[in-house]
Amino acid sequence: MAKILCVLYDDPVDGYPTSYARDDLPRIDHYPGGQSTPTPQGIDFTPGHLLGSVSGELGLRRFLEQRGHTLVVTSDKEGPDSAFDRELPDADVVISQPFWPAYLTAERIAKARNLKLAITAGIGSDHVDLDAAIAHNVTVAEVTYCNSISVAEHVVMMILGLVRNYLPAHRIATDGGWNIADCVARSYDVEGMQVGTVAAGRIGLAVLRRLKPFDVRLHYTDRHRLPRAVEEELGLTFHASAAEMVPHCDVVTVNAPLHPETEGLFDDKLIGSMKRGAYLVNTARAKICDRDAVDRALRSGQLAGYAGDVWYPQPAPPDHPWRTMPHQGMTPHISGSSLSAQARYAAGTREILESWLDGAPIRDEYLIVDKGGLAGTGSHSYSTNTSTPAR
Ligand code: NDP
Repeated sequence: MAKILCVLYDDPVDGYPTSYARDDLPRIDHYPGGQSTPTPQGIDFTPGHLLGSVSGELGLRRFLEQRGHTLVVTSDKEGPDSAFDRELPDADVVISQPFWPAYLTAERIAKARNLKLAITAGIGSDHVDLDAAIAHNVTVAEVTYCNSISVAEHVVMMILGLVRNYLPAHRIATDGGWNIADCVARSYDVEGMQVGTVAAGRIGLAVLRRLKPFDVRLHYTDRHRLPRAVEEELGLTFHASAAEMVPHCDVVTVNAPLHPETEGLFDDKLIGSMKRGAYLVNTARAKICDRDAVDRALRSGQLAGYAGDVWYPQPAPPDHPWRTMPHQGMTPHISGSSLSAQARYAAGTREILESWLDGAPIRDEYLIVDKGGLAGTGSHSYSTNTSTPAR
């Protein structure tokens, strides 16, 4: 019988919800491109309920306990005395989410003698030391596509929020004020702007598609070009690198994975090559942008705004400069954890567990590492010998 150790974020401060703002979720069977949404044999949760926090348990307890397995759920993940470290040595499976990552470092993987499977309930397994997972024959899987559209919607919201100066204007309204001039002195239209994405994969392309109706000029850079038909449909301008693209853009959105090529990409030099007053939105991974370079650029006016939901480390310490730098629209890491996304990644996590427990193959698109090497989606999107090991 297996021990499954699941690290989830804490319940709401007022306790686990007893009711919800809405009664149902739209039914979505397929993602853009045709991949089916998760297809577990069954689910023991109500789609639309809070599943990603400790009491939600990703809806897994009944399923696992009925089969005689042990499920341990905790949010306590930091330091050698954490529940995560105490439970890890005899765990067979670790489940964690990028929003509240249980960093599976090489040291932790070495101590986890029974560990065979690490599941990311979401997308982005850079909190797992993939080289160590390969060396210890640990399979790494994630729920590919489960929250790509959720993130794309968040990106569009943040672009509009920054350019329109929404958050300061909202604050003036809630504070009882009516000073229109203070609201609009930094407010522009997105229409006509040059908007570029670093990477046009699942999220980046969905952002481009969603922005097209705003009558903006769209740019992208990626390791591979999109099909010509897509470039023509969206009127895209391709650039061979981020360095070539960003000087043309009023808005840049980052949608690339964190790996050695992208770590620290937006440093003083690259940000300095952007148009003065450009906006930068990063929902990919924090370490793609140099923390202090972003802070400096906002204070100098080189950037007119920065927004995103990814930080390093997570949770960010209270004195992290991105909490207090000017002209920012940061949120905690939430874009991929809407209740809509949670229903998909809870179902996807269950699908992966069902396959693994039954000795059946895990869907190729969910695999990152398997049988001692990068596999499936991992062999396309990830690289080993990373310079960005999990903390
Ligand atoms: P995809 O794998 O679909 O797309 C990533 C794209 O990035 C690919 O087209 C890839 O090209 C391209 N790419 C890789 N390296 C570079 C580079 N150096 N320069 C330009 N392009 C590059 O991933 P998703 O769109 O689903 O997700 C992107 C990232 O977003 C994830 O890696 C994750 O870190 C983050 N994410 C954040 C979430 C959140 O909640 N904030 C939730 C989900 C994901 P190629 O195909 O040639 O390798």
